[in-house]
Amino acid sequence: MCGIIGYIGDKQAQSILLNCLRRLEYRGYDSCGIAVAANAIEVYKDEVRVEALGKASPQFDGTVGIGHTRWATHGEPSQANAHPHLDCTGNIAVVHNGVISNFQALKQQLTSEGHNFVSETDTEVIPHLIEKYYDGNLEKAVEAALRDVEGSYAIIVLMKGESKLITARKDSPLIIGVGDRESFIASDVPAILDYTDRVIYLEDGDIGVVTQGNIKIRRDDKEVAWAEDKILWSVEEAQKAGYEHFMLKEIHEQPKVIRNTLGEYTRDTEPVIDLAGMRDTGIASMLMLAAGTSYNAALIGKYIMEELLRIPVRVEIASEFNYYSYIPARTVAIAITQSGETADTLKAMKRLKEVRGRVIAITNVVGSTATRLANQTVYTRAGPEISVAATKTFVAQLMVLYWLAMAYSKADARRLAALLMELRQLPSKVQQVLDNEAEIMEQAKYLAKYENVFFIGRGINYPVALEGALKLKEISYIHAEGLAGGEIKHHTLAVLSHKTPVIALLARDNTYEAMLTNIKEIKARGAPVIVVAEEGDGAIEELVDSVITLPRVDTLFSPVVNVVALQLLAYYTARERGCSIDFPRNLAKSVTVE
Ligand code: GLU
Repeated sequence: MCGIIGYIGDKQAQSILLNCLRRLEYRGYDSCGIAVAANAIEVYKDEVRVEALGKASPQFDGTVGIGHTRWATHGEPSQANAHPHLDCTGNIAVVHNGVISNFQALKQQLTSEGHNFVSETDTEVIPHLIEKYYDGNLEKAVEAALRDVEGSYAIIVLMKGESKLITARKDSPLIIGVGDRESFIASDVPAILDYTDRVIYLEDGDIGVVTQGNIKIRRDDKEVAWAEDKILWSVEEAQKAGYEHFMLKEIHEQPKVIRNTLGEYTRDTEPVIDLAGMRDTGIASMLMLAAGTSYNAALIGKYIMEELLRIPVRVEIASEFNYYSYIPARTVAIAITQSGETADTLKAMKRLKEVRGRVIAITNVVGSTATRLANQTVYTRAGPEISVAATKTFVAQLMVLYWLAMAYSKADARRLAALLMELRQLPSKVQQVLDNEAEIMEQAKYLAKYENVFFIGRGINYPVALEGALKLKEISYIHAEGLAGGEIKHHTLAVLSHKTPVIALLARDNTYEAMLTNIKEIKARGAPVIVVAEEGDGAIEELVDSVITLPRVDTLFSPVVNVVALQLLAYYTARERGCSIDFPRNLAKSVTVE
């Protein structure tokens, strides 16, 4: 995963690189480093966060430089393994995002040719290969080096005496930010928002040569004309705005995000785009692919689509889908990926395209790789999400799924009108959950003392139980498991005791009675039960230890209000335990490696 940054311009590079790296930290943060072209290539890197690096680093005088914030794939987090990596002469510095899969063979070969390696990373072969091929033309040497490497990369190369940066990508994200008398190269848009809103999205196979006043991009051995896009995200959106953490800010932005996404797509439920030609032809079945939190959104999407479209919907974890040997030709699929760069999901999309599948991407990132692989893209309008734990993008994904299902629904007009009305009220319902924060905070104080927590739900709230557990585990490091209510008697009752609280999502639908039975079974084993239920359910209070009450909504929309409550619960539990909420250990936001 990791973030890379390059700067070339008329200002001192070091402070700009550090500022951009801070904004990229959500991509990886086990170590970081910078290199600036001064009289020599000056490198400072360590196994610390960007802030500490900035404080400890000596001042380098130079207007060209590169930086990296790492999420280790090869070699533990350490100073030696931190990027930038250098060649033997110390004149060539490289930052890399991705994995060089044939690095072992290359390292062996280079070692036998006299190259000396100082790290355990796969990345280090790149500067050595460039050194090997360099005969006065840096661009040509980079091209030659890249011909030898297999795997994925976004790289930036800096060389002593060359007032330019060379950059290239394959299966890892890369953009160039265009400023006045300065240019930026970065993994992602939030990195450069402080400096420019003009961006070029590079494509796989592109090689860019960036000098202070010029940008040249080569594709398939030919120079191509590039086009600038305007970034719609603002700097403020990528800042904490007085909140203690990005996650809390992003949770609180959800009423607005729902409004934005709906405002874009709901016009009397008429589809704004014609999904896979469905308007005329209809489709017989659908596949949904995703990973992590997006997978939980897809699972909820299955319930929504099946209810409103009356077609079978299959949901698959993208990484597992990639091992299936049989994929029916012409499958219609929805791929959900917040970043648009999730390696497993991209690979699954490619596999589908090989069998003439039709893929609709749902993503939050304009110009991301998924948008280029997809036949169609539907954007979530969540704005930049910085916290590693996804919150507002998850809810925005649900909004798009509601809209798609309603737009093509076979439900009668009255039901649709009622749903649309409810949908429009959702922002204020979510606001009510947020206003109830203090109650959830109390529950979090209680939960923070435990080491194992279970979440149960049925029907459309089963995936919400999965998401509640995922969120809690991800940021509080409490072991948490989400289960379908019907499953607990098959195994989980065996481990329940007073040490294992269970959070039960109780919806007023056809799952209600069965959930009550589950709750009684759990209580009988001595486990504390916290119920998440809609207001006005007085009977439940006597049965359980505590209740988080939520506003009443149509069952179809209950995942939205429920999940917001569970996000707050995870947030405050993690805070109570003193965890690093926005940057949980060992995780990173966009998972660009397999
Ligand atoms: N493979 C490189 C390393 O381990 C880059 C890591 C990444 O892109 O996350 O240092």
